[in-house]
Amino acid sequence: MQGLMPRMGIRHQLTAKHSITFIDMAEIKCIGILTSGGDAPGMNAAIRAVTRSAIFSGFKVKGIYRGYRGLVTDEIVEFSTANVSNIIQRGGTILKTARCKEFQTPEGRQLAYDTLKRHGIDALVVIGGDGSLTGARIFANEYNFPIIGLPGTIDNDIACTEYTIGYDTAMNTALEMIDKLRDTTQSHDRCSVVEVMGRNAGYIALNVAIASGAMAVLLPEKEFDMQRDILDKIAETQKTGKRHFIIIVAEGVGHAQEIANEIQARTGIDSRATILGHVQRGGSPTLRDRVNASAMGYQAVCLLEQGKYNRIVGMKGEKLVDYPVDEALEMTKSLDPVLVDVCNTISI
Ligand code: ADP
Repeated sequence: MQGLMPRMGIRHQLTAKHSITFIDMAEIKCIGILTSGGDAPGMNAAIRAVTRSAIFSGFKVKGIYRGYRGLVTDEIVEFSTANVSNIIQRGGTILKTARCKEFQTPEGRQLAYDTLKRHGIDALVVIGGDGSLTGARIFANEYNFPIIGLPGTIDNDIACTEYTIGYDTAMNTALEMIDKLRDTTQSHDRCSVVEVMGRNAGYIALNVAIASGAMAVLLPEKEFDMQRDILDKIAETQKTGKRHFIIIVAEGVGHAQEIANEIQARTGIDSRATILGHVQRGGSPTLRDRVNASAMGYQAVCLLEQGKYNRIVGMKGEKLVDYPVDEALEMTKSLDPVLVDVCNTISI
């Protein structure tokens, strides 16, 4: 993987004779980690990587439970390398996650800051989605508190990175489910309308549509027209002799049941809706999610070690990148139009 930094290991390398440098570099002694917002497979691999990289570099590590709520209510435990043993293969997050309204208020963030100070935590690694990283940005700017953000969300809807922790596992889970549905859809000559996750972004929907050989995909980024995008396509597809149809609908488009009902009413094809839902959030992370989450966690510690704060780590292709948090969260990204064309071209 490109972009990985060599670990400085300052605290291991520097002995008493280097104590002046040590003190200069030793502003951060203790790193807190939390997972926030929607959970995603691979968060545990990231927690493990941050914990172990930090401990190997001589930092103390504290695990904060239930995201920002754990900062407000003081749910914090010091971590050793053993606290993160046997978790790399587990979905979910051992630190738990939560949504915390108080952290969206100045009073809540003051409580969070007080908790951090009480525990001697000098820097925070936040693993979460857009909301969680926005919270980290506000907090970092308000208190001049060092943070590093790691994008963790199955939706892949964070603009500064092409990949987010959990995205790969979620797509593979959805694909496995759709492959199973295909068998029964084909046996009965049915139409299956499958809703996959993705509130504002169609990354999961587009990729699983291509990978599952779906006839059509409805994305939150694109207006859809029932006649043009579904009914005409079914008619075209029927000319090839095909009698079963899979249509992928992103969560943000919704209405899977209504779409199935309308297809049945207008074509006579037996049509069913399946909403995959939260099953896509769980499960053992794929190799890609484990490796990328491990590399990102390691990179978070390297950045802190080098005195680089308030940054979001991301990936551009196979390369690790990092951007200042303010810049990172102002970026925009969109679906690859060529991939949309691939999907449309080979779907019939
Ligand atoms: P995700 O991180 O998965 O996008 P949410 O949008 O629910 O999930 O955000 C998770 C948490 O991050 C919220 O419950 C809140 O504690 C914090 N957060 C989100 N937006 C803000 C904000 N504008 N200011 C402060 N904290 C925020």
